[in-house]
Amino acid sequence: EEMQDPVGCKERIFVSVRLRPLTDNEIARHDVCDWECISDNTIIYRNSLSVSEKSIYPTAYTFDRVFSSDCPNRQVYEEGAKEIALSVVRGINSSIFAYGQTGSGKTYTMTAITYRGDILSAESGSLRLLDDPENYFAREERMSRLERLTEETLRDSNHFKELLSICEAQTQIGENSLTETSIRSHQTLKVTVESSALEFLDNDKSSTLVASVNFVDLAGTEGVSQTSSAGARLKEGCHINRSLLTLGTVIRKLSTGRNGHIPYRDSKLTWILQYSLGGNARTAIICTMSPARTHVEQSRNTLLFASCAK
Ligand code: ADP
Ligand code: MG
Repeated sequence: EEMQDPVGCKERIFVSVRLRPLTDNEIARHDVCDWECISDNTIIYRNSLSVSEKSIYPTAYTFDRVFSSDCPNRQVYEEGAKEIALSVVRGINSSIFAYGQTGSGKTYTMTAITYRGDILSAESGSLRLLDDPENYFAREERMSRLERLTEETLRDSNHFKELLSICEAQTQIGENSLTETSIRSHQTLKVTVESSALEFLDNDKSSTLVASVNFVDLAGTEGVSQTSSAGARLKEGCHINRSLLTLGTVIRKLSTGRNGHIPYRDSKLTWILQYSLGGNARTAIICTMSPARTHVEQSRNTLLFASCAK
């Protein structure tokens, strides 16, 4: 209800924060949980702040929605992504992001959201998926190289499930099976939907609506600090960091609602997503965070990003 708005209406970014539980390893290390969701939209830092910290950090942070550590995936999807993901069948481009440090729950969250999205709920051939209507990737290809990008035309929702499980095997959820790839690269799934259901159309029976929804599992936001030891890695780390910084800039500019130059071209990620960010597009960002005391600095960075995106 609160996320609904008329078709085409310009809308700010829907920002939520999801706190994960302490992992078994963290519990074994006697790490403690420093954060608590005290309502549907406020998360607080429970540990006391030192005098110098008090001048820098707030105790309470408020967003469109916060999800506590016991909140199931279904609810995160329903309240943090569903409305925006399904706007694709009304012809509106959209993007759903998971943002956070490595190990905070991005993949855990995005995998569940992707499985629950629009396409799976729209059975019975009412949706047909198009094969690259805008020659989108060909253009991207000229500008910079995309790694491991594949494209498929969907037959039905089972085919989609099949593809998702292949993607999932590549992303490898799990604290002990984090791959270099999942830490240091962005994973994007773009689904283009052609919608011809009459209820979505005004008068003209022959027209159809075409839009895309992007499910984006971002690289770990800890960036260079934890993933760079050698020179080559440092370079890659900086590159990812830059794309996250550019994403932050783009999102901040969009969130002010003012017109003006949006630097989509400054990174590959924002270039790919430019038609699904801003304008009439809808955006949801789910910021995932660890509750552990040892991660407090990263968690604060994540909350700062989330606050700026609001
Ligand atoms: P990321 O993709 O951000 O690096 P993952 O999604 O791989 O992090 O999550 C790291 C670990 O924490 C995994 O073992 C995952 O199952 C677990 N985890 C993450 N979020 C939750 C959650 N909300 N509830 C339970 N376990 C979670
Ligand atoms: Mg991951």
